[in-house]
Amino acid sequence: MSSSTMNRRLEGKVAIVTGGASGIGASTVHLFLEHGANVVIADIQDELGQALSDKLGDNVCYMHCDVSNEEQVSDLVDSTVAKFGHLDIMYSNAGIINNDFGSILHVQKEQIERILSVNLIGGFLVAKHAARVMVPNKKGCIMFTASACTKIAGIADSSYAASKYGIVGLTKNLATELGLHGIRVNCISPFGVLTGSAIHDETKKAMFDRIMGEVGNLKGKLLKAEDVAKAALYLGSDEGSYVSGMNLVVDGGYSVVNPSLL
Ligand code: NAD
Repeated sequence: MSSSTMNRRLEGKVAIVTGGASGIGASTVHLFLEHGANVVIADIQDELGQALSDKLGDNVCYMHCDVSNEEQVSDLVDSTVAKFGHLDIMYSNAGIINNDFGSILHVQKEQIERILSVNLIGGFLVAKHAARVMVPNKKGCIMFTASACTKIAGIADSSYAASKYGIVGLTKNLATELGLHGIRVNCISPFGVLTGSAIHDETKKAMFDRIMGEVGNLKGKLLKAEDVAKAALYLGSDEGSYVSGMNLVVDGGYSVVNPSLL
């Protein structure tokens, strides 16, 4: 591979990143753009998403999309194809957590439904509409952000964990179904990236420091959103062209060192 190809691994590709306005999604948007892709930032944080898009230039745009709303997801895909001509990479990354680490004894049905509707049903809808435009082209790449809680028990509340286990199942099933149409489907499972509200939360920061710095495998090295973006770049580029149905864990070895916290 020549150095220019190495530096522009997504030249000519069109990507959508859901949850692209912040955290892992925003890092991925930056990296995909650096590597020559046209990128659509899809999110519900309109000001943040639009500001990011304005900052990053002509090969990127922001589109409002609540991934739990099928009409909005369908419009997102159609508007992307209308603007950039095609869709090569769909990164279904938008996700939410329960703010309290709730016990099954106290969890409210509404909390469970809220998490599942964004994290799992949102993933379904995003994949469904990406596949709709990818299948006729007989190629494409769909990725999800799952979580290392699919590898290690006790690090997330059960509704979140269930949503992410669902994503791993969806990944494998879609890899089988859509593989027949030349489409690869994978998920990425991070653990311990300081994003969203956690950045401003000293308690969470201290916890992440302890977990990743002292107990984790890569002592002293905290996982960054960019590290997860690099995994998305690998899976989205031709370097990952024979990888499908995988759950790529990006946790510095944490889940291997600590098979369970329970
Ligand atoms: P983040 O809060 O910075 O980013 C999540 C983004 O998703 C936000 O921009 C938010 O506005 C957007 N979003 C939320 N609901 C949405 C909806 N209904 N429709 C569209 N967009 C929506 O957090 P992050 O850590 O970057 O999270 C990205 C993904 O990574 C999530 O799926 C999360 O579950 C997963 N994840 C993160 C970690 C971590 O350590 N940070 C670990 C495991 C998994």
